[in-house]
Amino acid sequence: MADYRVPLQDMRFVLFDVLQSPQLWQSLEGLGEVDEDTAAAVVEEAAKICEQVIAPLNREADEVGCHWSSGDVTTPPGFREAYQVFNEGGWGALGGNPAYGGMGMPKSLVSAVEEMLQGACMSFGLAPMLTAGACLALDAHGSDQLKETYLPKMYSGEWSGAMDLTEPHAGTDLGLIRTRAEPQTDGSYRLYGTKIFITWGEHDMAENIVHLVLAKLPDAPTGTRGISLFLVPKFVPATDGSLGPRNALVCGALEKKMGIKGSATCVMNFDGAQGWLVGEVNQGLACMFTMMNYERVVVGIQALGAAQWAYQNAVDYARERVQSRSPAGPQNPQHEADPLLVHPDVRRMLLTAKAYNEGGRAFYVYVAQWLDMAKFTDDAQLRQRAQNRVALLTPVAKAFISDMAFESAVACQQVFGGHGYIREWGQEQFVRDIRITQIYEGTNGVQAMDLMGRKTIATDGALLAEYLAEVREFMTANEVALATLSLGEPLAAAVKTLEGITRELIDRAAADPCNIGAAAVEYLHLLGHVSYAYLWAKMACVAQAGDTNAFLDGKVKTAQFYFAHLLPRIEGLAASLKNGAATMMALGEEQF
Ligand SMILES: Cc1cc2nc3c(=O)[nH]c(=O)nc-3n(C[C@H](O)[C@H](O)[C@H](O)COP(=O)(O)OP(=O)(O)OC[C@H]3O[C@@H](n4cnc5c(N)ncnc54)[C@H](O)[C@@H]3O)c2cc1C
Repeated sequence: MADYRVPLQDMRFVLFDVLQSPQLWQSLEGLGEVDEDTAAAVVEEAAKICEQVIAPLNREADEVGCHWSSGDVTTPPGFREAYQVFNEGGWGALGGNPAYGGMGMPKSLVSAVEEMLQGACMSFGLAPMLTAGACLALDAHGSDQLKETYLPKMYSGEWSGAMDLTEPHAGTDLGLIRTRAEPQTDGSYRLYGTKIFITWGEHDMAENIVHLVLAKLPDAPTGTRGISLFLVPKFVPATDGSLGPRNALVCGALEKKMGIKGSATCVMNFDGAQGWLVGEVNQGLACMFTMMNYERVVVGIQALGAAQWAYQNAVDYARERVQSRSPAGPQNPQHEADPLLVHPDVRRMLLTAKAYNEGGRAFYVYVAQWLDMAKFTDDAQLRQRAQNRVALLTPVAKAFISDMAFESAVACQQVFGGHGYIREWGQEQFVRDIRITQIYEGTNGVQAMDLMGRKTIATDGALLAEYLAEVREFMTANEVALATLSLGEPLAAAVKTLEGITRELIDRAAADPCNIGAAAVEYLHLLGHVSYAYLWAKMACVAQAGDTNAFLDGKVKTAQFYFAHLLPRIEGLAASLKNGAATMMALGEEQF
């Protein structure tokens, strides 16, 4: 199996040449000191740890998994040591608030580090990922005292974070949760209930684990309006910050699961555990969503990271394995057969993965740049525009990147034939691992309903119109280059298709309440394909303008493959979307 290689050249190309991040950072208050040299050094240093320390753990972690004994969880071999190295390097603090020991780096840079961390080992990467998510929620909504006590220890990795939302009967519909929080006279709360599927809810890598838990007060309104957010530590810190008594929460069991087997997926029992309110009473879901907007992108990035390694493994295999002759005649006459790489169908699979992976990389950096603008600008108008773009594209970044990453991983597994199905070559692990990214942090179906309902129909298409105006500006400014590349016309046609179908869906939404749910996933895929087309067009223009080399030439050719073979999928999606919900709802329940 190929060793994981961080795609540094592509990361630099996207960050610096195509999306010109340093210019953006320097225009934003608080990011002025981050220049290209600093950013390049950050990604290079992170790459060393990911390739040399974390990636080598990936396979054994999948085989050995985590072990539970009397409430304690033992992590796979090497995880504790790697966690130490990761934190000694300060990587957990990269995007954190400098007021509490964070480094305040832009999301568009942090996201590249996230890709390599998750690419190296998803199971391991989930621990810092959840800690970063918990820190964001705490930083945005916690009291000063909570922030002072917890954030420095969490940025340093001494304490890790977990997000406790799901219960056995409440996943998507969090309004149904039953965990209750009883107020105490000292201002704290006691929590009672059971949470399931809690990633890294218990483990042996950090000395304390900080749970952010959704629960209801005794007099809370029903449904989602009655949910509050609480911080519940495994060990309650003493006033000087040192570890105090063990709190009344325990990991009751670990789930056995399809993938990310190196991570602990915990049942967490709260039996009067002491907790503190984060944010306002009954505003728990809103507090979680502040964080989730920021973190959902990471789930897409996570999927892409693993799909990149699957692609590298498949390319190496396709170069070495010889089977049959090329339809164009022998390419390797001194051997009895040609390498797999000569076969058009194998190239289709590899190019599909390459085009979705590299398109996805440009897309997540693009979305992360808008997150940076929303967070760091002083200009109210720009902030609003950035918040709009983030609102529109976050569900696409989570769901489209992960759906396409899964497709890429399956295509790369197929390149191996039967060898992709057995353990030896490592390909089946990528497929199993990536699959969860389509499910957790809100299923992709639910992301699509958010895009369709709240972001598109409720705004009468206004957020999309702002976005497409930017795409049109780009097309006008690059008319000649796009025409030379034969990308201008198909991009303009794709934008028109998206606009037309959006108007049709908005107009039809009121007629049948089922139309939104029926259209949502296909609509998200349509918008995702057009977004990748926009970014592929940008990449091709920059590549075309540079001095010719194999990397840039490959970019232009992959862009042309994307436009020729993947973008046309939108025509099929549009045709299906036009047919609405009627045939989906026609079948009687008993007919299933
Ligand atoms: C390995 C793993 C790790 C996880 N980590 C965490 C964690 O750290 N913290 C945490 O809190 N949770 C975690 N989860 C839980 C995860 O976020 C939920 O499983 C997920 O949100 C879906 O909830 P559910 O499983 O209850 O499915 P359900 O909500 O029962 O949904 C089942 C199906 O119905 C669909 N559906 C539901 N409602 C609607 C609707 N209104 N319209 C259309 N379709 C709908 C869904 O899209 C889905 O396809 C994890 C899960 C797994 C498997």
